[in-house]
Amino acid sequence: MAGKMKEINQDQYQQEVLDKKLAVVDFYSTECPPCEALASKYEDLSNLYGGDISFVKIFRQGNKELAQKLDVSGSPTVLFYKDGEMVGDKLSGGIKRSELMKNLDELLPEQRSKEIHKSIKQKETETDVVILGGGPAGLTAGIYLAQAHVRTIMVDTALPGGYVATTHLVSNYPGFIEAQNGYMLSHYMSEQAKANGVEFRAAVEVNKVDLTNKTVKIDGVETIKAKKIIIATGSRPRPLGIPGEKEYQGNGISYCATCDAKYFQDKEVILVGGGNSAIEEALFISKFASKITIVHQFDELQANKVAQEKAKADPKIEFKLSHEPREFKKYGNMDMGMVVEDLKTGERKELRSHGIFVFVGFIPNLENFSEKMDLDQWGYLKTNDEMMTSLDGVYAAGDIRTKAYRQITTAVADGTIAAIGISKDFA
Ligand SMILES: Cc1cc2nc3c(=O)[nH]c(=O)nc-3n(C[C@H](O)[C@H](O)[C@H](O)COP(=O)(O)OP(=O)(O)OC[C@H]3O[C@@H](n4cnc5c(N)ncnc54)[C@H](O)[C@@H]3O)c2cc1C
Repeated sequence: MAGKMKEINQDQYQQEVLDKKLAVVDFYSTECPPCEALASKYEDLSNLYGGDISFVKIFRQGNKELAQKLDVSGSPTVLFYKDGEMVGDKLSGGIKRSELMKNLDELLPEQRSKEIHKSIKQKETETDVVILGGGPAGLTAGIYLAQAHVRTIMVDTALPGGYVATTHLVSNYPGFIEAQNGYMLSHYMSEQAKANGVEFRAAVEVNKVDLTNKTVKIDGVETIKAKKIIIATGSRPRPLGIPGEKEYQGNGISYCATCDAKYFQDKEVILVGGGNSAIEEALFISKFASKITIVHQFDELQANKVAQEKAKADPKIEFKLSHEPREFKKYGNMDMGMVVEDLKTGERKELRSHGIFVFVGFIPNLENFSEKMDLDQWGYLKTNDEMMTSLDGVYAAGDIRTKAYRQITTAVADGTIAAIGISKDFA
């Protein structure tokens, strides 16, 4: 096995882990994207820390008794040991290099960690194209570029898949009669990209992006130098920042009417927001739901007059103006509660519904870029028809760019256009 690692089975656990002064154990599985994302980081760190700490790998499914005994129910799970005792964090999912290093450092005297850090060698990798963001836009661009023999590295701060990976069911992506599990759909997209030769750097920290010189530094150790960059980092719903929001995202709280309104046929929903998109989405949801209660913080809607008039004339739509959400709750399967505060009286009460839609805006994921690029009034990247931004050699695709509709199909289309244009330059 490469690196200073040892693959063991549960019978060797006592000798190779508990009897060692310091040890780290990776429970892995096959056909496990987060395990693949971890593998190269774990191997690299075993070369750095392996003289001081025993690095061990255990195949989880083949060693179920031990996994159960240690309460390891997912792969990968990384555990740290000092004198036979489990210490530090129990890491799982898309594990970052910095999380591993923090726990490894805690096992060692400070001076020794410093020496190891000093010995880290910087790595430079050259490629034709770097894609930032492995959602549908980035993955599609990767597939087209790799098929055109353009060397492509995909960098994602999380595991690839983007929003699709967290969407329960996708029913409007062509090619499937039945609604598809979002996680599987995104898994097929990333496996297709990988099979065509796209190299992945998944669950990494992006330290610095220099769009002018086309360099991307990741995990503090690798600088990727490219000839072109595609920004496909998507956007994220603007959070309300209240209790229950994170917990019930995609599980009672939705941010996409086109995607989810159909699940509320003859049901009651609450909608938060009063701007153009909120009111237009309310009119769309009204084709399905039996009642929509719009909760808006101001005493007037902000949407354009035509949309407002339509909404006010819709018998299914009710308004709770000058009210703000304070907490989300969930009772049983799809029964949601939302505590609201009357901003005029300070009185709080709970509204109940089958589901909640939140439309208070999205934030483009552009924080990593310091260069000036042309943006629209909402902060999204402006591009021409070929997906070129205002910076030479920098393209944008998917939800990150100015467009009327943000869907998987439109993201995939952007990725295709950017990649075909770029591949012509490498012909
Ligand atoms: C809750 C919800 C449900 C939806 N359901 C549907 C549906 O049913 N059908 C449909 O067609 N559309 C749906 N959509 C819309 C659809 O998911 C998006 O339009 C689509 O995912 C956009 O793809 P993208 O590749 O542009 O961005 P994303 O899917 O957002 O992917 C962006 C990727 O970039 C990564 N990233 C972020 N910042 C950085 C960075 N600095 N460096 C590197 N990587 C970074 C992220 O980790 C992510 O993997 C839904 C959206 C939401 C919010």
